[in-house]
Amino acid sequence: MLVYAIPLRTRFRGITVREGVLLEGPRGWGEFCPFPEYDDREAAHWLATALEQANDGWPAPVRARIPVNCIVPAVDPERAHRIVRESGCGTAKVKVADHPDSLAEDIARVEAVRAALGPGGAVRIDANAVWDVDTAVTRIRALDRAAGGLEYAEQPCRTIEELAAVRRRVGVPIAADESIRRAEDPLRVAVAGAADIAVIKCTPLGGVRRALRVAEAAGLPCVVSSALETGVGLGAQLALAGALPELTHACGLGTGALFTGDVLAEPVLPVDGFLAVPTAPPVPDPELLERYRHPDPERTRWWIERLERVRALVEG
Ligand SMILES: [Mg+2]
Repeated sequence: MLVYAIPLRTRFRGITVREGVLLEGPRGWGEFCPFPEYDDREAAHWLATALEQANDGWPAPVRARIPVNCIVPAVDPERAHRIVRESGCGTAKVKVADHPDSLAEDIARVEAVRAALGPGGAVRIDANAVWDVDTAVTRIRALDRAAGGLEYAEQPCRTIEELAAVRRRVGVPIAADESIRRAEDPLRVAVAGAADIAVIKCTPLGGVRRALRVAEAAGLPCVVSSALETGVGLGAQLALAGALPELTHACGLGTGALFTGDVLAEPVLPVDGFLAVPTAPPVPDPELLERYRHPDPERTRWWIERLERVRALVEG
C-alpha cells in the first residue's frame, strides 16, 4: 500500500496536487482516490473499484482501443486551434459559458475548433450546469450554427427537469454529466427524458462490473469519463470503455496529460486520439512509486485511516 502525491500541470477542480492510495492485491494494483471532501459512504464506491481491480480483475473487453476527446478550456481561438491540432484527436470537448457574457468568445472558440478538426470531426460543448433553460436554448442553437453541427451539449443546466426542458426545445443531443453521480442516477436521467447520452465514471460507481450494469439499466449511449486518476485508476475506466457492448462516442479519458508524471513507466496518454485497453490491471514502476510517495507523514496517515474506516464500512 502506498499513498501518492502527484502535482498537476494546472489547477483542476480546485486542486493542484492529486493524492490517493495505491493498493496491491492478487490480480494487480488498484487506486483509492475519492476527492478529500467526499464522506466515507461516498468513498466506499471508490474503494469497491480499487478492490475489484486488485482482487478480481475485469471482464473481457470487446474492443482493443478507445477513441478519446481532447479538452479545449476557455482559451482564445488561436490557442484552441493549436490544442486541437496538436492533440491528434477527432473529437474536441470545448468549455463554454465560463462567464455570463461569453457568447461571442464561445462562438469564436467553437469556430476555431471546427476549422482545426475539419468537417469529419466531432465538436461537443460543456457548460458545467450554469445556464437557465432559456439561455441554454439560445446559446446551444447559436453554438450549433457556429460549429456547423454539435455532437452534443453536456450538462447545459443544473437539474434533470431543466435538462429535459432544454432537450425538448433543441435538436442538439443533450448529455448528462453532473446529474450522474450515483448508481441510480443514469436511470433517473433516462426515465425523465433528460438526456440522449450518459457521461459515466467507473471509479465513483463502484467498479467495472457495477458500471456495466448501470449503463445497461440506463439504456443510453455512454461516454466514459475520468475522475482524475493516475494511470492505475485509468486502467479501470479503460476496462469499462473496452467492455461496454456499444461505444458510439469518444471518451473523456485523456486526463493523464494533466499530471506532471505517473506511477506507470508508460503513462496513459493518447496516440493519434486513441488509448489502448489494458489486458490486465497495470503494475506501477517501483522507482516511480518512490518518486511520488507522499512526502507528508501526517497526510499519509490521514489517507491510511480514511481507507481503513471505509474498508470497515464496506465489510460492515
Ligand atoms: Mg462535464
